[in-house]
Amino acid sequence: MKVAVIGSGPAGVYASLELAKNGVNKVILVEKEERLGGTCVLYGCIPSKAMLHPVHLLTELEKLGKKVSFNLDELRKFGQEALTRLSKGVEYMLEDNGIEVVRGVASLRSGLLNVNNETLQVDYIVLATGTFRERLNGIIYSEDLPYLNRDFQSVILVGGDVGGIEFGWMLRKLGKEVFLIDKQSTLLPYLDREVSNNITNYFAKIGIKLYLNRSVKEMREKEVVLDNGEKLTADAVYMTFGRKPSIQGFEEINHNPYVIVDEYLRTSVNNIFAAGDIIGTHTAHEAMYAGKIAAINILGGKKVFNKEGIPKVVYTHPTIAYVGNMDGRCIKLSLAELGRAITEKETDGFLKVCVKDDKIVGAQAFMKDAEEVISLISFLIRFNVRINEIKDYVAPHPSYIEVITELLSRLR
Ligand SMILES: Cc1cc2nc3c(=O)[nH]c(=O)nc-3n(C[C@H](O)[C@H](O)[C@H](O)COP(=O)(O)OP(=O)(O)OC[C@H]3O[C@@H](n4cnc5c(N)ncnc54)[C@H](O)[C@@H]3O)c2cc1C
Repeated sequence: MKVAVIGSGPAGVYASLELAKNGVNKVILVEKEERLGGTCVLYGCIPSKAMLHPVHLLTELEKLGKKVSFNLDELRKFGQEALTRLSKGVEYMLEDNGIEVVRGVASLRSGLLNVNNETLQVDYIVLATGTFRERLNGIIYSEDLPYLNRDFQSVILVGGDVGGIEFGWMLRKLGKEVFLIDKQSTLLPYLDREVSNNITNYFAKIGIKLYLNRSVKEMREKEVVLDNGEKLTADAVYMTFGRKPSIQGFEEINHNPYVIVDEYLRTSVNNIFAAGDIIGTHTAHEAMYAGKIAAINILGGKKVFNKEGIPKVVYTHPTIAYVGNMDGRCIKLSLAELGRAITEKETDGFLKVCVKDDKIVGAQAFMKDAEEVISLISFLIRFNVRINEIKDYVAPHPSYIEVITELLSRLR
């Protein structure tokens, strides 16, 4: 069997590996950029987390009364080092597994795959082209941050979702003046009302100037005009949202605007599967999982892409993480009651969990190590573990994971 995978982001890489490891004799990965890894490795998850890590450390040290500082240049260097290493790692991993990488722009013409103006005969295609950005002159985008050679003292962030919150928090902790504009009335308004109010108040408290319920009428290099006519000026304007699905060249596949797939990730064209942000996943871990599912189904499997209980994380400090739906009976535990949080002066934070029919159905955390706590809850949700069974779980003491056992022990 011969399979072409289009795109070397998380979805494309995981689809290719799954295919190659399970006996497909020819896997060809087509990538239009020189470097491999896609949005996540080159512009997103990896450089941004390498840049955020030192800021987490300085925040923790601040709590112990010590002051260290980093400048943007130092952070960018960490970002560049991490992305270069990871991109090379992707290259070696593909090579090790016998996957052929072809550089070029792929497209579909009357059902046939075209790369660099030549038809590539394959049995199956996995479309994993992710998203792209339509750029406006003079505006900087969140994915530019690891590559810019300039510093600034003040910045306007347009968009208060994950990107705006992570960068807003980081830049504020570096001592910048940060203006954050969003058309919603709270940050992350799709979270539980109490949680999103808490998060919004926290970001206002650390000095981020929030312009909520506001939209942008005009935007220039250093100036934004709001819908009410108010003008904000700063050294830089960053756009933190607005990526679109990379459907160019593949328009003959049904899409609206994301590629439409069935539960097995098959598109409207029989031998074409799609995975990752091109089907609207929005996170790298969902993209990897989708890549694997598409590959398994090409290999003859019948595996459903199960979206239930996948965790989401915003890497601030405290960290925001959430999973599932906040239905049923919900209870909250403050970290002020947790031994480990007291030892680390991390008592500002909480976990809120919702329970229905003897199972956890959703949870939201705003606390140190929130992603670890929510990952464990994600496991419980996805594997249908009952509350009674969880009572037999023994968490290490003192640990942040104890917030789950402690909270559940209060359920009547
Ligand atoms: C600033 C930022 C921070 C982020 N942080 C996180 C995070 O911390 N955690 C997280 O889970 N997610 C994060 N994300 C989201 C994450 O990057 C994406 O969800 C993930 O990269 C999607 O993977 P993908 O494989 O679907 O697509 P992509 O990673 O976008 O890869 C698609 C690839 O396809 C290639 N391609 C496109 N069209 C063609 C064509 N016609 N021919 C050949 N090649 C083509 C592209 O060049 C690209 O390499 C972040 C995103 C951004 C922008």
